[in-house]
Amino acid sequence: MSIKVETLSGETVTLDDDKLEELRMTFRGSLITQEDADYDAVRAVQNGLIDRRPALVIRCSGAADVIDAVNLAREYGLLAAVRSGGHSIAGHSARDGALLIDLSGMRGVWVDPDARLVRVQGGATWGDVDREAQVFNLAVPGGVVSTTGVAGLTLSGGIGWLHRKYGLSCDNLRAVEIVTADGRLRRASELENDDLFWALRGGGGNFGVVTAFEFAAQPVGPIVMCAVPVYADHQDEVFRAWSDWAGTVPDEVTTRAIFWTIPTDPHMPPEIHGRDVLITGALYAGPPDEGEKVLRPLRQLGTPLADLSAPMPYRMFQAAFDFFFVKGQLSSYWKSLMLSGPPSQAADVIVRHGLARTSPESMVHVPLLGGAVNHVNPHATAYAARDASSMLSVDANWRDQDADAHIAWVRQVIADAEKFSTGRPYLSFDSAAPEETPEVVQSAFGDNLERLRDVKRRYDPDNLFRLNANVVPV
Ligand code: FAD
Repeated sequence: MSIKVETLSGETVTLDDDKLEELRMTFRGSLITQEDADYDAVRAVQNGLIDRRPALVIRCSGAADVIDAVNLAREYGLLAAVRSGGHSIAGHSARDGALLIDLSGMRGVWVDPDARLVRVQGGATWGDVDREAQVFNLAVPGGVVSTTGVAGLTLSGGIGWLHRKYGLSCDNLRAVEIVTADGRLRRASELENDDLFWALRGGGGNFGVVTAFEFAAQPVGPIVMCAVPVYADHQDEVFRAWSDWAGTVPDEVTTRAIFWTIPTDPHMPPEIHGRDVLITGALYAGPPDEGEKVLRPLRQLGTPLADLSAPMPYRMFQAAFDFFFVKGQLSSYWKSLMLSGPPSQAADVIVRHGLARTSPESMVHVPLLGGAVNHVNPHATAYAARDASSMLSVDANWRDQDADAHIAWVRQVIADAEKFSTGRPYLSFDSAAPEETPEVVQSAFGDNLERLRDVKRRYDPDNLFRLNANVVPV
């Protein structure tokens, strides 16, 4: 059966039976259309709000498939989405009627413990990286949910539990292999295509399809001290005390405050199910006994309802939130702002809205930044937000049908918090609609945007890679 695929100009092009047969012979991976039994499973993404039907999915098995997929898109002028972990909150990695270049089968990870380097295929998740790297007590700073893709997270920055000690995920990149719009597989590092390497550290999926990343690995674990005090009472005082404490901690401490409702789930102690709480979580990137001492004040900010703190395997903490983020189960709309002063400056807004979330699955999430993130010059990489103390991420998640109410809540919190911010969003935590994207992109990159647009002109002059937080070529 022939298929129609949307083109860059908004029209459609038909790929007939013969062409599809030729493509099936060419690719080592599989081609999936809506005729295939696994089409619905293949097109599903993390965010339950995003229910999109690509015309054709190419499930790549290696760089050769990626090259041919990019060449196909360019030759036919096809609108193409790129997917690895499928966690894009804005839904960039899914588009009705378009081509989908899917790397989720490319999950190899290789560790060189002597050189402390980790090589990761473009479709791997953070769980894949942690699994292999922890064999050698090494880690690459990643995110806080192990099913998130390495690619999307790294290309837009990457914050997690190690960023204050070791920097963003993108700061740990040493080299990238990428198929650019002309179908060439290139290597980008400080020594080769350094302009491209600069852009890939924060500039998102604008410059091609990454087939492999090489990261510096850091010594972490296998046991780390993790603090997870759960406060129900006096959340206003606890939040302000957390902010004061956070202003004093060494870079080994990465901490975040989360307003949330504890789910009724066997992963959580039954006595706290359904309670509206403030969690002040932290990981200490150093010896666990030292961590126990440094993190102790965090567990005494008030009288916790429960204290789940413990020394634990790094991998266990990395996957601690996975049970809550099951693929497709929650609809999500998130927005974020970088905060300029200590989080307590915005406490009135944060606490008021944190206590008035419109669904129990929603979170108000304040990760502390600074440390190694801010030791990097804002022009040294495309990622520009090197001056924020912390971030406010307003994450509406829901299972009901009240999308409008949840989205309105997010927008109200962001509007109220704007005056406490640097004005920048964190692109990975932003559900910007296409018409909002130019403004969001300008705010995120600031005066790095012109250079990004110039790099875009050199590597993707026709804006083939446009389903993302799009940088329009000069
Ligand atoms: P995908 O949806 O597969 O891709 C998103 C975009 O990235 C694509 O549209 C494309 O533009 C680009 N892209 C993907 N793969 C490639 C590739 N191989 N080559 C080139 N471009 C590519 N972010 C954090 O920083 N820290 C966190 O702790 C964190 N936690 C999260 C938890 C959840 C549950 C969710 C849903 C998101 C979280 N995020 C976090 C945000 C996350 O980093 C972004 O959504 C990111 O884009 C996800 O990457 P992915 O590969 O899974 O996404």
